[in-house]
Amino acid sequence: MYNISLITGDGIGPELSESAIAVLETIHDKLGLKFSIKKLQAGDSALKQTGKALPEETLESVKQSHACLKAPVGESAADVIVRLRRILDLYANIRPAKSYPNMPALRDDIDLVIVRENTEDLYTGDEFDIDENISVALRKISSQASKRIAKYACLIAEQRNQEKKVTCVHKSNVMRKTDGLFVRSCEEEIRNHSGITFEQMYVDACAMNLIRQPQSFDVIVTTNLFGDILSDEAAQVVGGLGMAPAANIGDNFALFEPVHGAAFDIAGKQIANPSSFILSIKMMLEWLGMKNNDKKCFDVAGKLESTIYDIVKHGIKTKDIGGDKTTREFTKEIISRLA
Ligand code: ATP
Repeated sequence: MYNISLITGDGIGPELSESAIAVLETIHDKLGLKFSIKKLQAGDSALKQTGKALPEETLESVKQSHACLKAPVGESAADVIVRLRRILDLYANIRPAKSYPNMPALRDDIDLVIVRENTEDLYTGDEFDIDENISVALRKISSQASKRIAKYACLIAEQRNQEKKVTCVHKSNVMRKTDGLFVRSCEEEIRNHSGITFEQMYVDACAMNLIRQPQSFDVIVTTNLFGDILSDEAAQVVGGLGMAPAANIGDNFALFEPVHGAAFDIAGKQIANPSSFILSIKMMLEWLGMKNNDKKCFDVAGKLESTIYDIVKHGIKTKDIGGDKTTREFTKEIISRLA
């Protein structure tokens, strides 16, 4: 039995959570992989009700679970996810971008993963006002964190069994100290892994190549801010944020969430695409499978992804990817096929 903490979030978060619970319950009832799900509050609604975006009780419950699923939260996102990443040392942010059939994607042969460093860069929040007209931000990059993320990128490349190429993305021609250290550290680590090809690319060239030849990438490793921006771009290249899952992984714990935010513009309308969150469940199952040496998790993860693949192939889609199904109708299609 896996104890899963579920942060239901803001905006479209509760609708996506309803889908996620329905899918997990189906897996529990029909596929024999057992879960206990605990719904938790964090984000704008928690801030309003309790005065804290990440209440202590939520944090404690997350810590006690085997893994956490987090729906998107609103304006207080930094106080929730950036804190959780730091407190739980979830240093690797894994964001796959893959073409599914029948999608508004640039090509149908895209299958890449962005591995984003999650603990450093401008996200440490070290910003200062010099005076009322000038503010500065400190950008911290360390060789230890850079090597650690490069090592994780190599692990992903090895598991994917594709080209086994890791592209280190940086801007060391401008940020000579920080990104210079990042690329040197990554290169040292990646070259230690035999069978993996090291490649490097400036972030502007990478942004362009993600559109010009997205099929040429295997695994991209990059710093926190560049990873954030490039993964939104990569999601759009394969058809939109509605299909984009993510994992935040540490040595002992992991949290899974969609790449996108709370999307208040479509909240409550039952038109959100739950695939981003359901594919995040697939990533969670793979991580649980790896951590616990549980083959059943891998089997169900594979089934979950092939179910979504099959559904969209048959033109059953939500509005964002060119269909007319509601969030609930789309979820029902998944559930009936899984069962
Ligand atoms: P943030 O700044 O926190 O990333 P945001 O609200 O600016 O969040 P997103 O929520 O990431 O932006 O997404 C941008 C737009 O993409 C949304 O406004 C919405 O229209 C669309 N979108 C995002 N996620 C989904 C989804 N799951 N299903 C359908 N459309 C989505």
